[in-house]
Order: sequence, then structure tokens, then C-alpha cells
Amino acid sequence: MENGRCIVLLSGGIDSATALWWAKGKFEEVYALTFLYGQRHSVELEYAKKLAEMAGVREHILVDLTFLKRVGGSALTDEKMEVPEGPYPPEGTISTYVPLRNSVFGVVAGAYMEVYGITDLVIGVHASDVPNYPDTRPEWASALEALLNAGSSLAFDRKLRIRVHTPLVGLKKPDIIRLGLKLGVPYEWTWSCYSPVDGKPCGKCPTCVQRAEAFAEVGIPDPLLVRLEKEEKKEV
Ligand SMILES: [Zn+2]
Repeated sequence: MENGRCIVLLSGGIDSATALWWAKGKFEEVYALTFLYGQRHSVELEYAKKLAEMAGVREHILVDLTFLKRVGGSALTDEKMEVPEGPYPPEGTISTYVPLRNSVFGVVAGAYMEVYGITDLVIGVHASDVPNYPDTRPEWASALEALLNAGSSLAFDRKLRIRVHTPLVGLKKPDIIRLGLKLGVPYEWTWSCYSPVDGKPCGKCPTCVQRAEAFAEVGIPDPLLVRLEKEEKKEV
């Protein structure tokens, strides 16, 4: 037990859900922070709300950062750009990267931490994203921690040390799921797809492909698809 309070960045996907359940076991009080940034898969917000409720967080903070849509430069926020299909390329920034998005998220989280008096931030960055998303690398997380310590009054006046926790660093998707299953993460309430079709995952975008491969490797059917299929049968 870390014995304190923390904020978890929660998107509604597999990684942040796993980070949230990890935080539940480490901290007495957990706050979740979710961003609306003009993402085309804003359905993930409903999943984030459900996860926050199931995790019993102290407070789920929703923040509007839709200016990132005006910045554009990403297939996730610019409707004129197409979401790619197929697996992630072996390396290089992908068009679904949102320019400096995670840095903006980290700094906004830092502002809430300052006001709430919370020194610990939990982020679900992991090894499967590193080849294609520059702002998920371990050096990015260290730099964010250094920035928050340099800029926050928590460090300046109160001499507190801000810590950025990355419990999934070094883990790839199948190992994240294995960890989450042990922690009891309700993966049927996690959303990954960038290009939802009628409230269902497209099955073609890189994150859908990666998710399917990961559950196949773990050896279980994707709990989200199982749940959606059951609900569909009920409706018929
Ligand atoms: Zn998809």
C-alpha cells in the first residue's frame, strides 16, 4: 500500500483500466481523470464512466480538451484523415498519434494534482505503444515527472515529491491482460476501437487488430465481444 491518494488517467481502454485496478491495490483513494479531446471514438467515454464506477473511485473527473480537435494532425481528431486498417507498423509514428496529446493530459493532470494536493499520478503507458507513439516512451514519463516537480507548487512550497507511476512499462498487450485478469479488471467494459461502427468495434483498425491478437495469445475470447454478442441476441 502506498497509503495515499492518486490520480489515474483513464481512457476506457485495456491499458488504463488495468492501471486503474493496479492503483486500487496500491492507494487508499483513487481519482480517475478522463479527457474529451474530440476523438472520433468518444464512445470510450461511456466505458471510462462505467469503469470508474465499477472501480469505486473517489471522483471521476471529466475534462474537455476539444481544442485538440482544432489543432488536428491526427486521424483520431480530423475526420478528413482516414483511420488506417491492419496491424500497427513495426516502427514510426502512426497517423492515430495525436500531437503531444499525452503531454497535454499529463500537465492538466498536474494542475488537478496541485489543487487536490495529490502527489501521485498513474499512467498506463506500455511497451506495445512505444514503437508508434512517441509520448508513451519511458523517457516521456520521466520527463513529465521532472516537469511536474519543476513547475508545481506542491514541490516548490510544500517540498513534496511528485511521482509518475507507469505500472505497465515494459509490458506488451498480452501481459497487460494477464496482469489485469489477476487484478479482476472487467475487460467487457473496455473499449479500444478507433473507428466504431454502430457502437461496435470495426475489427480492422490497428488497435482492434492488436486487441484481437492479444486475447488470442492469452487464450480467451475478448470479453467485450462476448458481452456485445449476448446483448445483441437479447435484442433480437
Ligand atoms: Zn477498430
